[in-house]
Amino acid sequence: MEFNIALLKGDGIGPEIVDGAVKVLEKTADKFGHKFSFTPYLIGGCAINKTGVPLPQSTIDGCLASDSVLLGAVGGPEWDELPGYKRPEKALLGIRSALGLYTNLRPAKLYPALRAASPLKDEIVGSGFDIMIVRELTGGIYFGDRGYREGRYGQEAYDTEAYSVTEIERIGKAAFEAAMKRSRRLCSIDKANVLESSRLWRKTMHSLAGKYPAVEYTDMFVDNAAMQLIRDPGQFDVIVTSNMFGDILSDEASQITGSIGMLASASLGETTRGMYEPIHGSAPDIAGKNIANPIATILSGAMMLRYSFGLSAEADAIENAVDKVLAAGYRTADIMGSSEGTPLGCTEMTEKIAEAL
Ligand code: NAD
Repeated sequence: MEFNIALLKGDGIGPEIVDGAVKVLEKTADKFGHKFSFTPYLIGGCAINKTGVPLPQSTIDGCLASDSVLLGAVGGPEWDELPGYKRPEKALLGIRSALGLYTNLRPAKLYPALRAASPLKDEIVGSGFDIMIVRELTGGIYFGDRGYREGRYGQEAYDTEAYSVTEIERIGKAAFEAAMKRSRRLCSIDKANVLESSRLWRKTMHSLAGKYPAVEYTDMFVDNAAMQLIRDPGQFDVIVTSNMFGDILSDEASQITGSIGMLASASLGETTRGMYEPIHGSAPDIAGKNIANPIATILSGAMMLRYSFGLSAEADAIENAVDKVLAAGYRTADIMGSSEGTPLGCTEMTEKIAEAL
């Protein structure tokens, strides 16, 4: 099969880690008889330097014309003094909205080989965990009505959480579909004991659950979920939740893996075109030193194959190659910890993974 992939390398370590992912994707294409073409576009600080804006129209057009988008990271101290609307990070919201991406998939997996990196005790982590958080990305309180008004105690500020059945249904479907591709367990997280918007969320999820009888569906209140994630993370497979709850819980879940350089993410919309990126930033402190961990971006590439191109065997092959290389003791500096292992740079780690395919 043939696919066109738009590359948004961005700033800091962005170019190094995206180059790593491209190398692994090219090797995968060779092995399975596909053809992937890659076209780079500017985004973030490098786009500001070349064009004056963080998200040039040519980048939006290029991404819209592609089959999918792979992003590195944007931002850095060079652009920190710019006003908010001109900053590199502004481009992220812009490109997500231009591509109509409303579902955020964030896996949080603890690799057995990296168990020591988790801040959780061994008896809690057990044999590891592998959670997929499906977060609604374009609705809820971050996009609701807001402002200032006179309240009981004088001037007050307010933000509003609102969700329509349509918005809940489309994120719910994405979550049920994700659960069907994994171990068929889905937990929906809300605050239906207090919030009206959560009651509609729960009711809508329940009616969807009837259409996916193969999926074992449960509900949980968000306060309990925050506790359960650190008490017994292994109980979760796929989690679906609103924008704000997902924002908080996905960061909690990534922390308990202990390794930010390992975590991929996907943003999806109505079409198969998605945007795939590591959850970490541009790490300006280590840029250009060949010490960045490329694995989060390589695994983002694997997610692209699975969720945008329907190439599950190919995605499995990349994920297995990463497992193999970690199990053999190879590490980048960020996941070295105190355990014994062989330290590798960004390009060497990339090569090891490509070889293991
Ligand atoms: P960061 O994720 O870039 O870095 C946090 C720490 O983790 C740093 O010590 C960094 O060296 C380390 N780290 C991150 N990724 C790593 C990797 N792949 N390998 C090894 N170590 C890694 O977060 P920050 O320092 O808060 O932000 C730096 C810049 O990135 C800022 O300009 C910020 O706005 C931007 N940022 C961009 C995105 C994005 O593009 N999606 C996300 C978050 C932050």
